[in-house]
Amino acid sequence: MVYLLAILYRNLYESGDILRGSMGEKIVIGKEEWCGLNKLGLPAIKARGDSGARTSSLHAFNIHPYEENGRKYVSFDIHPLQDNRKVIQSCRGLVVDRREVKSSSGEVEQRHVIKTPLTLGEQTWDIEITLTNRDSMGYRMLLGREAMKERILIDPEASFCRGTRNTEEIEKNYRKVMPKREGLRILLLASNPKLYSNKRIMEAGEERGHDMRFINIQHGYMNISSSQPEVHYRGGEWLKDIDAVIPRIRPSMTYYGCALTRQFEAMGAYCLNHSDSISRSRDKLRSLQLLSDSRIAMPTTAFANSPVDTKEIIKMVGGAPLVIKLLEGTQGKGVVLAETSKAAESVINAFKSLHANILVQEFIKEAQGKDIRCFVIDGKVVGSIQREAAAGDFRANLHLGGKASPVRITAQERKIAITATKAIGLKVAGVDLIRSKDGPKVLEINSSPGLEGIEDITGKDVAGQMIESIEKRFRRVREGQET
Ligand code: ADP
Repeated sequence: MVYLLAILYRNLYESGDILRGSMGEKIVIGKEEWCGLNKLGLPAIKARGDSGARTSSLHAFNIHPYEENGRKYVSFDIHPLQDNRKVIQSCRGLVVDRREVKSSSGEVEQRHVIKTPLTLGEQTWDIEITLTNRDSMGYRMLLGREAMKERILIDPEASFCRGTRNTEEIEKNYRKVMPKREGLRILLLASNPKLYSNKRIMEAGEERGHDMRFINIQHGYMNISSSQPEVHYRGGEWLKDIDAVIPRIRPSMTYYGCALTRQFEAMGAYCLNHSDSISRSRDKLRSLQLLSDSRIAMPTTAFANSPVDTKEIIKMVGGAPLVIKLLEGTQGKGVVLAETSKAAESVINAFKSLHANILVQEFIKEAQGKDIRCFVIDGKVVGSIQREAAAGDFRANLHLGGKASPVRITAQERKIAITATKAIGLKVAGVDLIRSKDGPKVLEINSSPGLEGIEDITGKDVAGQMIESIEKRFRRVREGQET
């Protein structure tokens, strides 16, 4: 008998299931494993082992702290299965701490810490776990160093060393999200479902019980001649009974994307940004004219169509150094700094000889390569970040290697961002401001502002606030305050 046990133990030892070290027995796990957090009502959840992270974390939402008999608790919801937001579990846990945690992107976030038993293979022990609504890793749970203590070794090459699970079986343990009775049928009209912003909007809508559908702009087509306006989708499906549309149109799709949005408007769907306001925001010159109409401060800007006016234009904006912008440029790509009048003249004439539309702008040197992005929803700034250009550049765009950081904006900056959004007629906008010696000035207004930087830095659920803006509008209609 003893002999048999010894053989069994040796087999386990050699197969790597148990390793004996100076600190006792360790279990070997792969980079991903099924775990159980039974006390929370989570019998099976896939976790990623990450010895680089100190604390373990759970991707939770609807996080609400409360007190009971003098003890602190937190209630939260979780989608325990990866890539599945139809399955939901409501949990509650005892709060043992509130801690600042640095996420994988380096941002610091305040999180609730709960203590609960973790089951991995045959073993169960207490761990501390933080709750976050960040879902950047895709895994619903991350197993950090502290939880592993001296019990676990990670084999980074392996997966599911403690066994695989049948997800259909697991699903039965959890309840399904029932779309709320007042759940809306919402389309996300965009191009790439894998983009962070689009994933977050889909997730935020589903979490709130709405019927979310991703529609690729390229695959939609319209029937304009029929007595009833129609939009069909690849394969012929007729997209009807749509409550709301969230247009997230990439610049290269502006023309067609706005046409589709208009068609949905004609069908009676509520579009979070109106097609007209999107078209306005995409025309840099037109939006600057609208801002100037509303007396909003911006850098002195000049525009002309004929090459003979080049010198006059340079003079108009106060001479070099100055900034030349391609009207069709995005993400800072068509923005050039000319240090001298001679350089400015050559660049302007070169662009003109290519028949490119440009505008010429006073260079705000004192901004030192920094600008501010304010995210506006429904006439409120819901978050703002500062962006700083990479060394040697003056353009703060994140796509060009700029770095984002938290910023506290002034009352004047808040006002200017809100007024500018109104002037263009947008409900949701990213307003770029630059701090000049004469106060804040608007650089541009974006009708499909990215969510990643702003959510990461501010820790705010901006996607959720976009969905709530739609919900509020439907509530106003129901209560007769809006048509
Ligand atoms: P894009 O739409 O391509 O992002 P922007 O007009 O926003 O173009 O300019 C890109 C970046 O260049 C801005 O974020 C800002 O950092 C910098 N920039 C733009 N205009 C000026 C200016 N007039 N003075 C100083 N910096 C500027």
